[in-house]
Amino acid sequence: MTPSVAAERIAVAEAAVLDWYAANGRDLAFRHTTDPWAILVSEVLAQQTQAARAAEAWTRFMAEFPTPAAVAAASPATVIRAWRGLGYNRRAVALRNAAILIVQEHGGRVPDTLDALVALPGIGPYTARAVLAIAFNRPVAALDVNIRRVIGRALLASNVKPLELQALADGLVPDGQAAAWTHALMDVGAAFCRPHDPRCGECPLRTSCRYAATPEPKAGLATNPGAKPSAKFASTTRWLRGRILDRLRDAPGWLNFDDGIGSHSRADVHASLSRLAIEGMIELDHSRARLVGS
Ligand code: SF4
Repeated sequence: MTPSVAAERIAVAEAAVLDWYAANGRDLAFRHTTDPWAILVSEVLAQQTQAARAAEAWTRFMAEFPTPAAVAAASPATVIRAWRGLGYNRRAVALRNAAILIVQEHGGRVPDTLDALVALPGIGPYTARAVLAIAFNRPVAALDVNIRRVIGRALLASNVKPLELQALADGLVPDGQAAAWTHALMDVGAAFCRPHDPRCGECPLRTSCRYAATPEPKAGLATNPGAKPSAKFASTTRWLRGRILDRLRDAPGWLNFDDGIGSHSRADVHASLSRLAIEGMIELDHSRARLVGS
């Protein structure tokens, strides 16, 4: 394919995706704002949480904590309680620590550079780029596993090396449309470009997609080659940590942990308590624990 043909194919693909998004994109609450703090919160919430559920939680969280200063002034216990039902509670503590840094080092305003964003606790390169693209409309590609799969299948050559991927993806961001492009690719990934059974016949990229034009079903970039089936959830440490934090959210102060929980032994419980204390979520006194700031 000559460079001009490739550029034309990409231009057609960009227009198709943006047109489809304008008419069919998901109407999520956090898509009605470009406030950098609101976008940062939405991206942290959306990690590991289904988009519609994250949007509901975002509305509640923003009502309670509309600014970084509001989170920075709250105790860890208050923020962890506001995180109820979302899982991965470390995100709540990291978000509070990020808010404190935003207040202390950036005058209470979310910074607008990649280096400053990734220096915030809990903010990785994907989240930082999503904030830059969505809140600041900077021409950077936020590559989570879904967006990586869409552009890898549709728009990039199959032999792209991982180290080249970010620069190539940045080059695909349409001028002045970084926010809509990011949202649109997220939606295409969720609605059509599924890992195992992509619905190419209904996808807005079908006429320009390299993968759709390729007969063998496995063509395209690997999306998660190391994935393994997970163990039964109730036997996992994550489940145990969630139950411990649920109990502490409901407790006004110290709570004793003298027994096992579910299939987890007392030793398992105490190992998780120690870990939660190291991570700054709880205070530990022998077998007693409470949320920090309770
Ligand atoms: S046409 Fe198929 S493979 Fe290509 S982006 Fe759409 S769903 Fe994915």
